[in-house]
Amino acid sequence: MASTSMARNWAELPEELLQLCSQRLCPKNLLAFRAVCRSWQSAAVKERSDVPWLMLTNKRGMPWCEFFCLSCEQVHKKLFPEVMANGYISSRGWVLMTSRHGEFQVLKNPMSCYSHIIKLPNWNKFPNIEDLPFFYVGFICKFILSDSPTTSPDYKVMVIYDIGQLGLWKPGEEEWTAVNAPLDEFFDVIYYKGSFVAVDYEQRILRCDVDGPTPFEAQVVFQMPQRLQEFEHEYPSGSLWDLDQVYLVQSTTGSLLFVSQWEQLRSTITFRFRVLEIDLDTQTCTEVENLENTSLFLGHNSSFSLEVDEDHLIKPNCIYFTYFRLSLSQSSDTGMGIYHLKDGTVELHFKGKSSPSLWIEPCF
Ligand SMILES: [Zn+2]
Repeated sequence: MASTSMARNWAELPEELLQLCSQRLCPKNLLAFRAVCRSWQSAAVKERSDVPWLMLTNKRGMPWCEFFCLSCEQVHKKLFPEVMANGYISSRGWVLMTSRHGEFQVLKNPMSCYSHIIKLPNWNKFPNIEDLPFFYVGFICKFILSDSPTTSPDYKVMVIYDIGQLGLWKPGEEEWTAVNAPLDEFFDVIYYKGSFVAVDYEQRILRCDVDGPTPFEAQVVFQMPQRLQEFEHEYPSGSLWDLDQVYLVQSTTGSLLFVSQWEQLRSTITFRFRVLEIDLDTQTCTEVENLENTSLFLGHNSSFSLEVDEDHLIKPNCIYFTYFRLSLSQSSDTGMGIYHLKDGTVELHFKGKSSPSLWIEPCF
């Protein structure tokens, strides 16, 4: 029977209990939790966000953005300060917004309650840009932060711009600087163990040490063996697989992963992934068949890996990816998929027709 002792004052719940509860909330609900009363506010964990959000960038002209929250499986809306942005890319929780006129602004993690905006030089501050008649939305396809701008004033920004070149910017500079490389066509770049590390269209790994004597030079540090570049698998004979994209990811144990994304040339979309671990010291490369209790997040963001557990609602040994492709009818297909490394199956979610969605990495 319910006794009056059950009807406790919620504000007087034990602090340890409140703390445990707050640890299990998604960022959005944690904000609501903190707003209940003073004792809940002080007991709540300070900034809980170890689950990524999927930013859905289809709503043009709206003052908010929609985020699919993997932890509570709901769509959350967040007001965005820059409503005129028409392109978004993310790196380590920060979001680069591009305006239709080629202005770039970086916004601190939209999951956090603060706003912190950094203005970057415009698109016409890239070298040799005079040949380009106008700015286009996909001008920057990758944006990488070396460190968090809030805690490291000497952070650097690397981008892949225009046809696939690397561009570097440091705070205080008024222009972007091109990074010299043997081939100016890059698939991906990450910040890895103190340097920017990139992969080019010839599947070479290059390192750019922006703190060293040649900060604007990218040197080849690994060439993928030819036999590993092809996609070999026991798929129905006659099926053609096309290399879509190559990603670099730092694993949760610190190793460098080379992930190739393949798409089958058919009317329906099917994807395959292949994960290779590269050891730059021994110059070796091995196939990864099991990511164990980690999962990778790939797309229009700086790629990242996360250790997951049952509380997360994120599946282990998976590749969470966003995709964007022009279909045969020239309309675009975008969405999010989960690739299971165990058996090669794919779950496709959030099919859309507009700009690609992107992962927002937990706080950085
Ligand atoms: Zn949520």
